[in-house]
Amino acid sequence: MVFAEQHNGKIHPVTFELLSKGRELADRKEVELSSVILGHQIREEAKELIYYGADKVFIFDHPTLKEFDSILYKQNIVSLIREEKPEIVLIGATHLGRSLAPRIAAALNTGLTADCIDLQLDEDGELIQVRPAFTGNILAYIKTKTKPVMTTVRYKVFKARERDPMRKGEIIEKEVKVVEDTGTKILGKIPREAVNISDAGVVVAGGRGLRRPDDLKMLEELASLLGGVVGVSRPLVDEGWASKDRQVGFSGNIVKPKLYVAVGISGSPQHLAGMKDSEIVVAINVDPSAPIFNVADYGVVGDLYEVIPKPIEKIKLRKMKL
Ligand SMILES: Cc1cc2nc3c(=O)[nH]c(=O)nc-3n(C[C@H](O)[C@H](O)[C@H](O)COP(=O)(O)OP(=O)(O)OC[C@H]3O[C@@H](n4cnc5c(N)ncnc54)[C@H](O)[C@@H]3O)c2cc1C
Repeated sequence: MVFAEQHNGKIHPVTFELLSKGRELADRKEVELSSVILGHQIREEAKELIYYGADKVFIFDHPTLKEFDSILYKQNIVSLIREEKPEIVLIGATHLGRSLAPRIAAALNTGLTADCIDLQLDEDGELIQVRPAFTGNILAYIKTKTKPVMTTVRYKVFKARERDPMRKGEIIEKEVKVVEDTGTKILGKIPREAVNISDAGVVVAGGRGLRRPDDLKMLEELASLLGGVVGVSRPLVDEGWASKDRQVGFSGNIVKPKLYVAVGISGSPQHLAGMKDSEIVVAINVDPSAPIFNVADYGVVGDLYEVIPKPIEKIKLRKMKL
């Protein structure tokens, strides 16, 4: 069973990735793949889940489910799991998924493996959950004894299959359990700077080689000329120079852009875990022995303050000529 995450009726793409992996697992186990979606006026979206591989979709549609409420979501999903008894439950390791999955697992008294980067089946058809351990230095292969096996999976580790609008499946409306007071009340929403570095085609990322927070502006200029966004290594987030949603790496975001420019980043294993699958990596670093050069397609050994202004000038000139 795949949990379908949606925000204002828009399904989070991790859902399609999980449905694709779920389809593969279900076919090998010769079982059905189901999905569950909660929200308000989401019947159209439910069809999408079938197009991406679900055989059955359970819908909980109610005005109280318009916004994510961890308690309401949990209660409805827990009762569905008790009824349907899926063997495996897959949830995206997004902010929402990371809040929801442990609540469901605790209520069902079952295990949960968080932040998986691969899922496999052993010869007996049991799920093996693969996740980094010890800050990404080793990969742990985990089997859960309790049922259902619950897993959160990182966004972008699996590829979504092609959408097939001809696929047929069953949509089942479930009665919503409404809890009067869940202890959570949404007072309002504060819009924040929205950056989605996971989906960006170009990421220009800065690290501790930068001297001042203001120097990120130089990277912003290069990123915007290249049609991309700025990412950062973790120390810059820890210092408060940039928000967490810009952090690339093991404890941040996984990115797979066409072009990744690492500026003053040493290339720690935790950073590489978030960007090593980028199509083209360009590294700029004063230290020729920096590990980032091991994954770089192009490397510039030099001071970023001398190197970065050059492509900025060149691209500007070229744009002026066009
Ligand atoms: C549990 C855990 C999770 C972590 N998760 C993450 C994560 O998600 N993402 C992440 O990034 N880190 C993460 N880290 C931190 C990680 O271990 C490193 O400390 C971090 O990646 C280092 O960041 P950096 O490369 O910017 O800094 P440094 O390692 O200090 O490297 C700075 C680089 O800049 C170069 N430099 C200096 N001056 C210049 C200049 N003028 N021009 C060009 N180059 C210059 C230096 O040669 C050096 O290579 C995690 C750590 C732990 C323990």
